[in-house]
Amino acid sequence: MPEIETYDFIVVGAGSAGCVLANRLTTSGRYRVLLLEAGPADRNLWLQIPLGYGKLFTDRRHNWCYATEPQPQCAGREVIAPRGKVLGGSSSINGLIYIRGQAEDFNLWRQLGNAGWGYDDVLPYFRKSEANERGADALHGGDGPLAVSNARDLHPLALAYVEAAQQCGYPRNADFNGATQEGAGLYQTTMRDGVRCSTATGYLKPARRRANLRVVTDALTTLILFDGRRGTGIEYRRGDETRTVRASREIIVSSGAFNSPQLLQLSGVGPAPLLQSFGIPIVADMPGVGDGLNDHYAGRILLRCRDPITLNDAVRGWGGKISAAARYAFSRRGYLTTAAISAGCFVRAHPLSETPDSQCSIALYSGDSIGGTLHAFPGITGVCTLLRPESRGYVRITSSDPRQAPAINPNYLATERDRETIVAGVKALRRIFRAPAMARHIAEEIEPGAACDKDDELLDFIRRRGSTTYHPVSTCRMGQDARAVTDERLRVRGLSGLRVIDASIMPAVVSGNTNAATIMIGEKGADLVLADAT
Ligand SMILES: Cc1cc2nc3c(=O)[nH]c(=O)nc-3n(C[C@H](O)[C@H](O)[C@H](O)COP(=O)(O)OP(=O)(O)OC[C@H]3O[C@@H](n4cnc5c(N)ncnc54)[C@H](O)[C@@H]3O)c2cc1C
Repeated sequence: MPEIETYDFIVVGAGSAGCVLANRLTTSGRYRVLLLEAGPADRNLWLQIPLGYGKLFTDRRHNWCYATEPQPQCAGREVIAPRGKVLGGSSSINGLIYIRGQAEDFNLWRQLGNAGWGYDDVLPYFRKSEANERGADALHGGDGPLAVSNARDLHPLALAYVEAAQQCGYPRNADFNGATQEGAGLYQTTMRDGVRCSTATGYLKPARRRANLRVVTDALTTLILFDGRRGTGIEYRRGDETRTVRASREIIVSSGAFNSPQLLQLSGVGPAPLLQSFGIPIVADMPGVGDGLNDHYAGRILLRCRDPITLNDAVRGWGGKISAAARYAFSRRGYLTTAAISAGCFVRAHPLSETPDSQCSIALYSGDSIGGTLHAFPGITGVCTLLRPESRGYVRITSSDPRQAPAINPNYLATERDRETIVAGVKALRRIFRAPAMARHIAEEIEPGAACDKDDELLDFIRRRGSTTYHPVSTCRMGQDARAVTDERLRVRGLSGLRVIDASIMPAVVSGNTNAATIMIGEKGADLVLADAT
């Protein structure tokens, strides 16, 4: 029998959190770490070019391309649910927007019983991760692994949007990650000199030459192995081969909000009736595993512009493509450096909200479907994200076969408050597009169209045409109650040798975009692991 390979730590999933862990756990040289990733290396050029985002939506080589179950409150539709499947995980295919969330989000996490997760506690980890091109200050880091940049080229429509929001009475905000989130401004993005900075680029690349780190790609972890209630190793599949590896200290599951609960359930950690229905032997009956899925739903309006200055126009025809490629190759400038959304306004839309509840943004392109062909005319999209959805759903295995996608049900718009808030938010978004600075660029609102004016009509439109902004969390929720999956040190409750460290541990989704907060979780998680290892 060949000897089974043993590492101090095994990290399952090389995404936003997993790459941070691989870097931080190998820094001292004291520990041997194995990082397993189901997807390939991040060699494809579109993973490096910011606008590649649009190409990666439907690219099955680098994206799990999941879809939700039919959503009862969204006209029974299945909503697309992309996830990165590549080194860097979703940070390699995401929209690059750098928004951490509100201080109140993290203070809520602490109030729920999670000592060490208030805003003052997590701020040092945001700073540690960040290399903001504006430099370091009390709220920002200047020399971390994650590059954060201003927009390379200021687009007239993005500037007009900010001006229009100010005309609606919203304050100008030069830093959405600063003292306050409210107001209108331009987004900062996770790129350096016009090239995407995923966690594979920022964290993994510098660590790869370390002798104590081994990275295996195209390796699907299929099972966590237990000795009683202690996690001792894993099985993974690479091609036709199944391999076993052991962890002398810990197994860290960082497979994201859909796949982390899936792997736990497949391994016997989850709701007993679900596991029994697939004949999976139970290690720990934990009803909370996969429960509580919380995600950002968004209403999207489509507008036709007067002048051919949108991305729809830039990408049309070979002449434009060739000159953009040349510009990018020589100067790393031009529309290929454009992030998914360019400018935004954080708004308190619902009368009962004390902090912004809606993120109203402009995207410089339009199309009939997300990730589909762009319109053949100048167009833009207005996006209103419901920042603190009350609605909760679940992730559940549908088979004992690890290659089968789990059932994903975010249960969008399940509560009255969610429905009221998103209608109020989309109304605020439309007001901005109708303010003078923006209105002079708009020929017409194509969807839902000016005739759609009443609240119930607007809600019907949002149900039929809305989508996610790809921020699923909370399926292995950190907490102190009986349904919580991890404790505040991210250890799986009631078991040993096993943690979950990724977006799935968030008690609730942050009021922003989730990449920055997940990287913070990776940073803090690494500190917790190292502190417990000594
Ligand atoms: C299309 C899209 C756009 C987005 N836009 C933004 C944005 O603009 N700004 C922002 O802040 N956030 C954005 N997000 C969200 C953000 O990127 C995610 O919240 C974050 O990356 C989640 O990190 P994670 O570590 O939890 O999971 P992931 O980064 O998804 O990493 C999980 C990794 O685990 C691997 N894995 C899964 N199962 C297994 C297994 N069994 N064995 C081995 N490996 C496995 C996966 O392949 C993946 O690489 C976007 C996400 C998407 C998909």
